[in-house]
Amino acid sequence: MPPQQVNTVTGRTFPVAMRKPESELEQLQKQHLHRVLGHARTGNKGEFTSPSDCLLNFSSNDYLGLAKSPELKSAAIAAIEKFGVGSAASRMLCGGSSAHRDLESKAAEFFGTEAALYFASGYSAAVGTLVAIIKKGDTVILDKRCHACLIDGARLSGATIRVFPHNNLEKLERLLMSTCEESPDDSRVVIITESVFSMDGDTSPLPGIIDLKTRFGALLLVDEAHALGVLGPCGRGLSHQTGKSESVDFLMATFGKAAGSAGGVVAASSQWIDLIVNKARSFIYSTAPPHAQAAAALAGLRIIESATGDHRREILTGNVALLCKQLEIQMPVAAIVPLILGEETSALEASAALQDAGITVPAIRYPTVARGSARLRISLSAAHSEKDIHMLASNLGHLISTGKLALAGNP
Ligand SMILES: *Cc1c(COP(=O)(O)O)cnc(C)c1O
Repeated sequence: MPPQQVNTVTGRTFPVAMRKPESELEQLQKQHLHRVLGHARTGNKGEFTSPSDCLLNFSSNDYLGLAKSPELKSAAIAAIEKFGVGSAASRMLCGGSSAHRDLESKAAEFFGTEAALYFASGYSAAVGTLVAIIKKGDTVILDKRCHACLIDGARLSGATIRVFPHNNLEKLERLLMSTCEESPDDSRVVIITESVFSMDGDTSPLPGIIDLKTRFGALLLVDEAHALGVLGPCGRGLSHQTGKSESVDFLMATFGKAAGSAGGVVAASSQWIDLIVNKARSFIYSTAPPHAQAAAALAGLRIIESATGDHRREILTGNVALLCKQLEIQMPVAAIVPLILGEETSALEASAALQDAGITVPAIRYPTVARGSARLRISLSAAHSEKDIHMLASNLGHLISTGKLALAGNP
């Protein structure tokens, strides 16, 4: 019999076999998968708050270096002065202000859709949108490497989930074929992919996917998290770069990366947005994001599409090109350079060695990436100088030549 404990109110005994957190923590440690929160970072190249460290940061998604820009700061401060700090309630209960509405009209114009809806984060935008647009009986078809928020949203919706191998159009076609044969006429089929994959830095074959979604009459959601501000004309993302953005039913993005602020957005037709407002539980049952966050996101979007945005994208591309040239690796389309090492311990050791040299490059491990494909994930920014890139490249070069960093090939 398992150990028993006495309930002091009823006097009855009950088993005390409940799992303790220690057992899971030990398990994670044994597999080198235990994570510890780092020190707070102050920005792209910012100092860590620990006293003596001043690390060069290659872990930030602030691709254009906007998070610390004077324009975003003053937009946030002005919004605080005007509206206060907290929004005090859900948007449904008048928690929103013109800061939220202005951002949404701008986002719709930016993405070329009729409407857009702002969420507290990209994560809640994904979960809220999927729960709103699909339910049991519908089907979601996801790329195997889709972000956790898309998988979680698909699961929470209750729809049937089918997965195609990364960027594999033939398999996607087969899944669409069998799904469309089996599904009732009025059920929805939604294909989900990212424009730039967050841990691999590669892009999805959007023209091919759009072709399939059109042929099979499916819906398409594209998560532009790592492409907003980085790819496409005026930084509008990969969907716009392909010239077929009007075929994408739901354009999703976060303002927490290149836009330099925080919060997520979904842009779609007015009717879809109306439905999402009515059914996205992460939107309805959550306090509206702070006014300042929305105002800064709007300022970020304005810079992204301006000549300054173009200029920053040029610097960013120059930085990516310089690093790849120095490392003699192929240049990725966006600003993420993964160096695949394989073992979790190899990635941890390489990351620690760089840390010792004053450089932050995170080790990415399971479950963020598949087992055996642990990596260093370098993200570059327009805020890095050429000197910063040289510093990173020479340290990586040193790790490679001393055998401490052995590349295991492309993802
Ligand atoms: C970062 C990210 C998100 C989540 O956005 P947050 O605003 O950080 O919650 C969603 N999708 C992808 C692909 C991401 O990389």
